[in-house]
Amino acid sequence: SAKAHDPGRFHFFEQEMEVELLRMQSLKADLAKALPKHQFETVYQPILSLRDNSVRGFETLIRWRHPERGMVPPDEFIPVIEETGAIADIGGWVLDEALRSAGNWPDRISVAVNLSPCQFRGEGLQHTVRAALAKSGVAPPRLELEITESVLLQGSERNLALLHSLRNMGVKIALDDFGVGYSSLSYLRTFPFTRVKIDRSFVKGIDANPQSIAIVKSVVDIAAAMGMQVTAEGIETRQEFDCIRTLGCDAVQGFFIGRPTARGTELAALEKVDADMIWRATGDSRLP
Ligand code: C2E
Ligand code: MG
Ligand code: MG
Ligand code: MG
Repeated sequence: SAKAHDPGRFHFFEQEMEVELLRMQSLKADLAKALPKHQFETVYQPILSLRDNSVRGFETLIRWRHPERGMVPPDEFIPVIEETGAIADIGGWVLDEALRSAGNWPDRISVAVNLSPCQFRGEGLQHTVRAALAKSGVAPPRLELEITESVLLQGSERNLALLHSLRNMGVKIALDDFGVGYSSLSYLRTFPFTRVKIDRSFVKGIDANPQSIAIVKSVVDIAAAMGMQVTAEGIETRQEFDCIRTLGCDAVQGFFIGRPTARGTELAALEKVDADMIWRATGDSRLP
């Protein structure tokens, strides 16, 4: 192409790659120190039950507060710590934080924690989960582990046994980001999920999209037939909320219901969402 024959242009690309390489190296170096330097935080996003219009739990989301870069989103650093192997320690820390938080909540409120593929590869997951539960005193059924299809792509037999042993401990397992990967339906048949979380891409603009409505309806039907519950993720507008409510999902999550909130402010967020829902049910006009 023209670009390849322009030596100046090529040099520019080379420089750009070098800058990117250096950026990645310093990111890795900073990440290696982030845990001991207490730069990670957990935030909690409320999950609303549509059965009784009250908060049924929170999803734990990690945040990295970098001294110069500011808040680095997980999509930017999780893949890096997965590569370096640091995810095991950091994932264990998130689990401890999440369960420590849940220890301060009413017993009916559950806590969801995202797991990385790497946390599945080692032998330690069962032990980590059991130890974290024991330390916190939180009852196992209040803990929901969220995994994506990518976790299950390899080593199916082993993963199946691992999921069953977690289920036998009483822990719940959700299939996250459902619908955007491969072979979703066969995973539903194979693995003992208790919940399916429908990816935000099917929720966005659903009120004006008959195809998305059909897909969500079908997922709700399939999940019901298999005894699984369904959460719709990423609800941002009243229109999406009103539409999803008619489709039979058990629970919803998204900025319209509540944004992730700092550790220690979850109970205030819970009360606010519950109050909003009462106004909504009674047709009060004080709502967003
Ligand atoms: P996820 O588990 O699917 O989490 C939902 C993501 O969607 C979160 O982004 C959340 O802030 C965002 N979100 C929630 N409601 C809305 C909405 O209404 N609109 C939009 N546009 N977004 C919404 P976040 O916190 O940036 O996390 C991104 C992903 O990073 C998560 O996706 C999860 O896969 C991963 N992640 C986050 N925390 C952890 C963790 O502690 N461990 C692991 N392994 N992965 C994590
Ligand atoms: Mg999740
Ligand atoms: Mg998700
Ligand atoms: Mg995701």
